[in-house]
Amino acid sequence: MPTGAAPGRLPNSTDVLVVGGGIVGCSLAYWLAQEGIEVVVIDRFDLNTQASGANAGSLHAQLQSSRARQTDPKMVESNNHVVKLGTPAIRLWQQLAKTLDTDIEVVVEGGLMIAENDEDRKMIEAKVKRENALGLEAEIISGNALRTIAPYLSDQALVAEFCPIEGRVNPIVATPAIVLAAQRHGARFFRHTELLSLEKLSDGYEAKTVRGSIRCKRLVNAAGPGGGKVAAMAGINVPVAGDFLHMNVTEAVEHFVPHLVQHARRKLTLKQASNGNFLLGGGWPAGPDPKTGLPSVNRASLEQNLWMSIQVVPALRNTRLIRTWAGINISLDGMPLLGPVPGHPNFHFALVVTGYTLGPFCAQLVADKLMGRAPVMDISPYSVERFG
Ligand SMILES: Cc1cc2nc3c(=O)[nH]c(=O)nc-3n(C[C@H](O)[C@H](O)[C@H](O)COP(=O)(O)OP(=O)(O)OC[C@H]3O[C@@H](n4cnc5c(N)ncnc54)[C@H](O)[C@@H]3O)c2cc1C
Repeated sequence: MPTGAAPGRLPNSTDVLVVGGGIVGCSLAYWLAQEGIEVVVIDRFDLNTQASGANAGSLHAQLQSSRARQTDPKMVESNNHVVKLGTPAIRLWQQLAKTLDTDIEVVVEGGLMIAENDEDRKMIEAKVKRENALGLEAEIISGNALRTIAPYLSDQALVAEFCPIEGRVNPIVATPAIVLAAQRHGARFFRHTELLSLEKLSDGYEAKTVRGSIRCKRLVNAAGPGGGKVAAMAGINVPVAGDFLHMNVTEAVEHFVPHLVQHARRKLTLKQASNGNFLLGGGWPAGPDPKTGLPSVNRASLEQNLWMSIQVVPALRNTRLIRTWAGINISLDGMPLLGPVPGHPNFHFALVVTGYTLGPFCAQLVADKLMGRAPVMDISPYSVERFG
């Protein structure tokens, strides 16, 4: 990652220590350093190399179809809380695109969720009503209106949900741009600095890393799928797991799909990046390599994801696949885990699912809490207290 993340000696102490140099930890450092707060970020690998560097850069606001079908009242409530985050999170990306001095390729042209049969049409109609009630702008479009805005869709697409705030960002340039901006405000980043243990002090923590120890007044756990282990070091148990996901990318072709495209029943997210490549994904499973445990691509996911993409956008039939990869996403109960921990006043969570879209916004909510300010929205639904 070309950000000049400090290779030097870990300082003896800092006000805030952020564990995890993905989009969440890096944005948090940016928000804090801007306000003059002393902040150090450590990552066990390089910055932006885990989920934040492996993700598809879709800016999601509408509920995924699998989530929209969940009926367990607890999950329904969680999903509603997630919908409320989407619009402010994408607006914040639009602001960042104006503020940062790099083109981070934020494009908001709207997202379509395609339905091909009557049952799926009913599902997206109910979903639009629910999302509108939660403050998300979305509508149903069909017939000529759908063909006019999306002539690239197959004839199978009968009707679609259109959500105008959805879009895309390029994670490979966006996180480094945020890191550079944070560094300019004094934030310090240490790569290859794995946290090994935490000792609770009367006024914070002593964090032991592979590159020495550092004391901090406040510690923020932004370690993504590693967040369960980091919490356990402080004696806090949370049900964090990892979810291995597969991605495909095609060669660059002339632009003809401006939208983020999803399917109402099957796994699919499809969009065309600024340079013309198509990014194809949608939650297809990958696996850990049996020898290394690292994310490893899956041939069945590759084939099914390509098949699905061609069903929805037939012109992709003649476009060549150039690369596949896999990454580990954080798996929680569907909602971000944010803010302080009762009984552990110096320990804060910043763990975010659908985290590239929501990362900078959720980090801002946590940063506000750390600075003693009221966040722009109530973060109590995202607190660790929901786990009892
Ligand atoms: C293939 C794939 C596609 C995705 N597509 C999208 C998408 O299109 N849109 C979207 O919004 N989201 C998407 N996601 C989800 C999104 O990428 C993640 O939710 C988001 O990047 C999480 O950011 P993070 O900073 O919390 O975690 P990460 O990027 O995982 O960062 C956590 C960091 O913590 C570090 N760490 C862990 N343990 C320790 C330790 N003990 N000491 C020091 N450092 C530690 C890790 O090395 C890592 O760098 C996708 C995820 C994957 C895997």
